[in-house]
Amino acid sequence: MKTGICPKCTSKEVFSGAGIMLKKGPFGSNAIPIGLTSIAALDNYVCTSCGYVESYISDPGKLTEIAGKWDKAGQEDSEEKEGV
Ligand SMILES: [Zn+2]
Repeated sequence: MKTGICPKCTSKEVFSGAGIMLKKGPFGSNAIPIGLTSIAALDNYVCTSCGYVESYISDPGKLTEIAGKWDKAGQEDSEEKEGV
C-alpha cells in the first residue's frame, strides 16, 4: 500500500494521510490503544477506487512497546503447540 498500489483492487489511486498530524498529539488523530496509558498514532493509506484503508504506526518506540506488551498472534495457546 505504501508503494501507491492498492493490494485489494490493484488501483494506483492510493492516498496517504501520513502528513496529517494534528498538533494536539495522537488523541487528535486516528490512533489505537497500546495499553492503559499509551496510544499510537496511525498513518492512514486510503484507496479511493475501492475504499480500502491501511493503517501504519510510524513511531518505532510505539512498535517496540507493542512488541513488549501485546500477545503475539497465533501463540496464545502455547499448550497446544505440537513441536511447531
Ligand atoms: Zn483499492
